[in-house]
Amino acid sequence: MPDTQQADRQDLTVDVVVIGGGAVGENAAQYAIEGSDLTAVIVEGHLLGGECSYYACMPSKALLRPLDVAGTSADVDGVSPARLDHGGMLQRRDAFVSHYDDSSQVEWAESTGIQVLRGHAHLTGERTVRVDDAASRTITARHAVILATGSEPTVPAEFEGAHVWTSADATGVVEVPERLVIVGGGVVACEAATWLAGLGAHVTLLVRGSALLTGNEPFAGHSVLDGMKTHGVDVMFNTSVTACRRDNPEHTGLGKIHGGAVHLETTSGELDVDEVLAATGRAPRLDDLGLDAVGLTPENIIDRDLPSWLHAVGDASGDVPLTHWGKYRARVLGARIRAVATGDPEPFEVQSPPVPQVIFTEPQVAQVGLTQVAADEQGIDVVTAQVAYNAVAGSALLRNDVPGQAKIVVDRESRCLVGATFVGPEAGEQLHAATVAITGRIPVPVLRHAVPSYPTVSELWLRLLESLPEEMRRPRD
Ligand SMILES: Cc1cc2nc3c(=O)[nH]c(=O)nc-3n(C[C@H](O)[C@H](O)[C@H](O)COP(=O)(O)OP(=O)(O)OC[C@H]3O[C@@H](n4cnc5c(N)ncnc54)[C@H](O)[C@@H]3O)c2cc1C
Repeated sequence: MPDTQQADRQDLTVDVVVIGGGAVGENAAQYAIEGSDLTAVIVEGHLLGGECSYYACMPSKALLRPLDVAGTSADVDGVSPARLDHGGMLQRRDAFVSHYDDSSQVEWAESTGIQVLRGHAHLTGERTVRVDDAASRTITARHAVILATGSEPTVPAEFEGAHVWTSADATGVVEVPERLVIVGGGVVACEAATWLAGLGAHVTLLVRGSALLTGNEPFAGHSVLDGMKTHGVDVMFNTSVTACRRDNPEHTGLGKIHGGAVHLETTSGELDVDEVLAATGRAPRLDDLGLDAVGLTPENIIDRDLPSWLHAVGDASGDVPLTHWGKYRARVLGARIRAVATGDPEPFEVQSPPVPQVIFTEPQVAQVGLTQVAADEQGIDVVTAQVAYNAVAGSALLRNDVPGQAKIVVDRESRCLVGATFVGPEAGEQLHAATVAITGRIPVPVLRHAVPSYPTVSELWLRLLESLPEEMRRPRD
């Protein structure tokens, strides 16, 4: 392929154009050109690295880890409890977001041969993208345009005008509100409640339904609720906000309190607080993308009803909104685009690999594949096994008091796992074995020969597999 062509007004023609340089867009561009002469441009309107690096995964986990360490130190005999340093926690967060400076990511992209352009990009026609920068460049893609524009928070109408916090303020927290309401009962709400309570806020969680973390095995929500109560978080279930008023709302900056006191009217009574975090979900960021210029709507993106040159990946595609999942899809997509463009054989793909997720609450929740309810809904005849997380010596060694459960969901017919959930200290590190077992379709009679080391938490696998009915564990005649 010829190198990137410079034309009038610095217009470009390249092989692949990626709109949005989050983790997903970066992976898509990298895999689309890797080991070939193909060329790629990423157009990024803000910071290369996207939400995950600066406003989501990285800062949240940087804030949560010290709490985990302090919690462990307070619950292991023979160790003096560690004292949290709130200022140090914010500094650690700042270091992990590189002080909101993306130069190292730009260096990485350029070192892999990806060209990075700054500006808002939108489609202007088939395979053409306009970048709203000083040069107002048009880029033409020979092979593919990839939309990797991520997602944005959805803030319900009741909060309009009150300038309430979104998750970016919570991860970028600078001023810790004394009294904070978090609206939501999902992953972002539960994780943010954990780190903001850890930083000293009095947190009240308002949950519309009657459980936390619905979509996981029910014991996950119960354990996380217990953990929150231990840390002084108040949780109000079956509660919706009906009105929100704020004194002197103002745009004070990321992570700062956005004005005066907030008055909330809810279906369970009235509340006065210093700040409100709306953790009420996210939606694909598909506005202002010029979809109409190519005869498309956001619904076409979500329904995967796209022309062959156009692709959507990551949060923008409406797929499961997780970094590792979006990056996986981006690697597959990028490799496929490269194979088609170069005439190389298409890469091998596994059908429907399972989605893993770790929720970094206290205790952690780690889940992959299907829950029992989801398997039932799909009509899969399953057998389950569930054991206490402290059922093995390796878990008992972690802490004095080990909460949580572990559960596997097994397809009765194939005797292969279709789902697994671990809830307990460091549960996230247990998950990949389950992901491998499901992806590799390893039947239980074979899995029983994978010997976990003593004394580690992974011996939970022994207890789980032993708890299955005998006929699931025996090889078929
Ligand atoms: C608080 C929080 C914590 C999270 N923690 C985790 C976690 O621990 N693990 C995990 O796996 N996931 C986590 N997630 C989810 C994860 O952040 C997202 O799934 C991931 O960031 C999606 O990556 P993406 O590249 O698709 O989108 P993004 O990271 O949003 O990147 C999209 C990029 O596109 C740019 N862009 C958008 N439109 C345009 C345009 N028209 N022109 C130019 N540029 C444009 C944006 O500026 C942005 O940089 C978390 C989410 C939140 C909110």
